[in-house]
Amino acid sequence: MKYDVVIIGAGLGGLECGYICAKHGKSVCVLEQGLTLGGSLQVFKRKGHTFDTGYHYIGAYDKGQSLHRLFDYFNLTHLPFQKMDSNYFDEVVYKDKSYRFANGYDNFVDALAEEFPSQRQNLKKYVDFLSKVGDNIFNQFSPKDLDSFYTASLFGQSAYDFLKETFTNEDLINVVSGTSLKLELKKETLPLYTFAQINDSFIRSAYRLKGGGGQIAESLAADIEKMGGIVKKNSKVDELVEVDGRIAYARLANGEKIQGETFISSAHPSATLELVKESSKIRKIYRNRISRLQNTTGMFTANIKLKKDTLPYLNRNQYFYDTDDVWNVCDGDDSHINGALMSYQVPEDGGDYAENVDIIVPMSWAAVEQWDGTKVMQRGEEYESMKQKKAEECVNFVSKYVPQLKNAVDTIYTSTPLTYKDYVSTVEGSAYGIRKDYNNVMQTLLTPRTPIENLLLTGQSLNLHGILGVSMTSLFTTAEIVGMDTVKEDLKL
Ligand SMILES: Cc1cc2nc3c(=O)[nH]c(=O)nc-3n(C[C@H](O)[C@H](O)[C@H](O)COP(=O)(O)OP(=O)(O)OC[C@H]3O[C@@H](n4cnc5c(N)ncnc54)[C@H](O)[C@@H]3O)c2cc1C
Repeated sequence: MKYDVVIIGAGLGGLECGYICAKHGKSVCVLEQGLTLGGSLQVFKRKGHTFDTGYHYIGAYDKGQSLHRLFDYFNLTHLPFQKMDSNYFDEVVYKDKSYRFANGYDNFVDALAEEFPSQRQNLKKYVDFLSKVGDNIFNQFSPKDLDSFYTASLFGQSAYDFLKETFTNEDLINVVSGTSLKLELKKETLPLYTFAQINDSFIRSAYRLKGGGGQIAESLAADIEKMGGIVKKNSKVDELVEVDGRIAYARLANGEKIQGETFISSAHPSATLELVKESSKIRKIYRNRISRLQNTTGMFTANIKLKKDTLPYLNRNQYFYDTDDVWNVCDGDDSHINGALMSYQVPEDGGDYAENVDIIVPMSWAAVEQWDGTKVMQRGEEYESMKQKKAEECVNFVSKYVPQLKNAVDTIYTSTPLTYKDYVSTVEGSAYGIRKDYNNVMQTLLTPRTPIENLLLTGQSLNLHGILGVSMTSLFTTAEIVGMDTVKEDLKL
């Protein structure tokens, strides 16, 4: 059989593209190498508990807000999303002082102006700017002259320079940047659009998902199948075979050939190009350009199962810093931890105590590169002891701020950038894909199109990472197949 659309990868991007194409009557086949759906959204189960990998919270999910509109379209709003504490959805501990982040622009300003009274006007300017970026999110599909300023052009501006121009207090710059382990803070490269769009979405509203992010993938896959599509696990694509300048079929690791009219890859762009082993369309210069792009840092996660009734559940995230400059936390120095996110999973039993927490800290590829090529669970003693040491450092670091944690730990499961590389094939275990660089927008911001007409890209490396960013990109990618007008009609834009 020849499918209308063959999709590589059943992470968020691949499944959303499959959903849109299936909804528009295309025959769809989604091929996932893993045994579990979801890519970075997948969960794992241990001792009856579910642990998240790359889902912790989402923003802009109140009714009518951008992600809610998108998830409504993707039939995901039936999932048990749980609103975080509107008056305190994030806590940033910086220079041993705790700062409260509240939802809603006025609340957000009031909460931080309590600590920085002289900066109230600047805080207003800050949220005013962010809100315009958020308001214009869907204008990316039909940029008007004026509005497009708040979208594409902001990729060419520096996030850090914007903060320096907006605030006159260095500590406040660090505090407003302090919930940003969900992106890679890098003064020299981070585009203003990435910073503003992501932070704006969480100021609007913040939600966890009881039971874990894997449900998003399961729901999308079930709907694709209901609409006549197919989602195949354990189906690693080894090669995309080009015939007469078009991809004719995907060859799976088991030798099976899956033919298609159009192919969408949600795998990392350079991993995708490696699948096209011979091509009359892809020039060496394009391959080199893509393979030389830098990737965002990886992350180390300690997924911690807690002893029963030891640590009260907090309906907020906690970000802890032991540095004066939070913009240095992702600088690749693995010798010590100076910034961490602690995220509480919604208790399955509905009780007042947390059952699991995740501690997430940046970890560079260099820290694990020596074990590249080893097999999961067979990487050897040295790797295991490195992970154990890092997990202990995580617990010790956070225990400085949450002393009850130390005695609350029951079991710790860990993942490193190597885990991500081996499970979801992200290059160098990068957490958020290709690093966008405001100095070099043309090179680092990729479009869905490739030199092969019927091979499209999607996923976090293209535009913005994260649940909201990847969902937007899925629409850009599928617009190449079903048409931009159809996408806009679907979203009632
Ligand atoms: C530690 C961490 C925490 C995060 N926390 C949040 C958060 O709280 N909120 C938020 O919004 N975002 C968060 N993110 C980011 C978010 O999870 C990702 O941006 C998003 O899930 C990426 O989706 P994707 O489809 O682009 O890529 P992926 O999820 O990587 O999906 C790609 C899929 O392609 C498959 N694949 C690759 N190669 C092949 C092949 N050859 N054959 C078949 N299949 C293949 C992979 O197995 C994978 O399933 C987090 C990420 C990390 C790493």
